[in-house]
Amino acid sequence: MEKDNKPEKIKDDVVVTLNYELRVNGEIVDSSEDGDPIVFLQGSNQVVSGLEKAIYGMKIGETRDITVSPDEGYGEYDPDAVTEVERSEFPDDFPLEPGIEITVHTEESDDEGGEFEEVMEATVLEVGKSVVKLDFNHPLAGKTLDFKVEVVDLREATEEEIEHGHVHGDDDEFEFDDGDLDELEY
Ligand code: ZN
Repeated sequence: MEKDNKPEKIKDDVVVTLNYELRVNGEIVDSSEDGDPIVFLQGSNQVVSGLEKAIYGMKIGETRDITVSPDEGYGEYDPDAVTEVERSEFPDDFPLEPGIEITVHTEESDDEGGEFEEVMEATVLEVGKSVVKLDFNHPLAGKTLDFKVEVVDLREATEEEIEHGHVHGDDDEFEFDDGDLDELEY
């Protein structure tokens, strides 16, 4: 990749390297500190839509404060996404505590009767004697997001990255050329 080939500013199909700090109600909830910026393909919904929209046109070295409303962030809080599960569904030694985040695997069936596994993240809200209350909302659902971002680097995406809709990096050895296996990618 030639150095002088760098895109001048952020537009679709550009790979963006971004330092960010995310605050909610004035408190830092996430950041890319420790020299670990996020790298993503602009225009492919890899970051929340409000952030993606707001960085179009930014140049390397530029910083910006961006406020994202819930509807362009992690969505509005959905009370219906809170559900109760029998405590007996959990192994006896499972460390159930309010506030912890767990991964839930469920067997679902498709229209043709085939079965597939769905994996969802949930937060434990309450632990009762017989039931456990789980919240399937994203932890940042309903929150206004205050980002402070700095563009660290920009490069043109490869044709393959544009086709796949994501950035290829150090994990390329896990890439499969066979289209049937594409679902294994992350
Ligand atoms: Zn890929």
